[in-house]
Amino acid sequence: MTNKTPITVARGDGIGPEIMDAALNILDAAGAALAIEEIAIGKAVFDKGFKSGIEDKSWDSLRRTRVFLKAPITTPQGGGFKSLNVTVRKQLGLFANVRPCVSYAPYVDTHHPNMDVVIVRENEEDLYGGIEYRHTQDVVESVKIISRPGCERIIRYAFEYARANGRKKVTCMSKDNIMKMADGLFHRVFEEIGAEYPEIEQNHMIIDIGSAKVAVQPHQFDVIVTENLYGDIISDIAAEITGSVGLGGSSNIGSDFGMFEAIHGSAPDIAGKGIANPSGLLLGSIMMLTHIGQNDVAERVHNAWLKTIEDGIHTGDIYRLGRSVEKVGTDGFAKAVIARIGSAPEKLRPVSYKGASAGSMKLPPLKARVTQVKSLAGVDIFVNWDGPAGKNGGGQLAAMIQPLVAPGLKLESIDNRGTRVWPDGLPETFCTDHWRLRLKGSGSLTHEQIIAQLNKFCAAKIDFIKVEHLYDFDGKPGYTAAQGE
Ligand code: NAD
Repeated sequence: MTNKTPITVARGDGIGPEIMDAALNILDAAGAALAIEEIAIGKAVFDKGFKSGIEDKSWDSLRRTRVFLKAPITTPQGGGFKSLNVTVRKQLGLFANVRPCVSYAPYVDTHHPNMDVVIVRENEEDLYGGIEYRHTQDVVESVKIISRPGCERIIRYAFEYARANGRKKVTCMSKDNIMKMADGLFHRVFEEIGAEYPEIEQNHMIIDIGSAKVAVQPHQFDVIVTENLYGDIISDIAAEITGSVGLGGSSNIGSDFGMFEAIHGSAPDIAGKGIANPSGLLLGSIMMLTHIGQNDVAERVHNAWLKTIEDGIHTGDIYRLGRSVEKVGTDGFAKAVIARIGSAPEKLRPVSYKGASAGSMKLPPLKARVTQVKSLAGVDIFVNWDGPAGKNGGGQLAAMIQPLVAPGLKLESIDNRGTRVWPDGLPETFCTDHWRLRLKGSGSLTHEQIIAQLNKFCAAKIDFIKVEHLYDFDGKPGYTAAQGE
């Protein structure tokens, strides 16, 4: 191969530099044609005062290459630091996180010898927006954002991935029995998009039972598509039960960028000892090779790696006396893989990347938005009030608020953390200092009416802390009722 593909490489923290050296040595020996640009990320950059863990000049390299092979970094706790991983995923629009979780029995200990699951995790939305507020002494809020285009892209990606990689089934996981709007949208879009892929078996599971099934019967699953937080948790469970978190690679894919990494962290407990398993990063690098079209090299590396595992050459995390043949360190493992380039496994199934592509799939454009009539039906005004916990606090607050309700509005209900406390509240309900007043109009409201209401509260020194509009779309409520309503 003559043309080298430019890629950006970061060696990261902890075991990062050791496993990156091992992975790059293997890629080089297998004939990968890469023009590497290195950038610094992680601790050294945080220490220089860059709160995001990446310097401004590094974005130029990423913009140029659009391919990022990244070792894990250590995220500093607290102190206003942002997660570099979340920053890079969001800034580069890497909406899909793909994590294949495969077991390698009998060579790596696992209770699930037939596991071969790919988790496709939404990567930009959900609670990972990091939009959080402290409203009162007692209450903080974390905002979960789910968008229709966000759902459509990730679900479409999961089906296209399944089609391109010969996968037979896609399972959607959400919690739409509780989050009827946010997770309900994810589930609904799954059904809409899924209808375009009739050849692929498809089902939906509630995330809690779905995670339990992944832990005990992973062979039931093929491709799983889910939201950001659920995907984060379930993919670590799935990776761990394959035998070691050190065996998981992942890709983060956007319409124009790809980032490839191991799923594990910087493992500070074993850093510098030369014993880390470089397999996760190597498997991430193999996904990168298919993304940039070097499928033949990807296949050579992957088969040499499988042969190494099959030959019992194992790092300490997967080494078992009596079953493994030789315990090696990071460098020894890389040398063993290099020595097997050109061979294929005899017992484990060899891989073939002919024609397959995990990353550079072109998705069809998003569906056109169907315009709906939006009308303002009411307003939720949240107030900070140190009323009595239980003992009809809702009733006392209602008595205080009723005389202050602006013309054209009606106080419909009061709740505390989503549980209705007026009218008909129960004295047993525990209440904090965070109350929601739901005010409705008889028809469509105006912004002026809401401002008039806020002015009245202002004059009466009601400590309102947040205002949330209640919209109907084509006459249907775009908001949920309080529990007990
Ligand atoms: P971790 O994944 O680093 O380590 C968990 C356990 O697995 C440790 O016992 C470790 O020794 C072991 N382990 C991990 N990778 C291994 C490998 N390749 N070979 C052998 N053993 C391995 O998780 P953690 O300890 O919770 O996090 C450490 C740091 O990594 C934290 O600062 C965290 O924020 C960060 N982190 C970074 C990323 C990333 O950069 N993508 C991902 C997760 C965590």
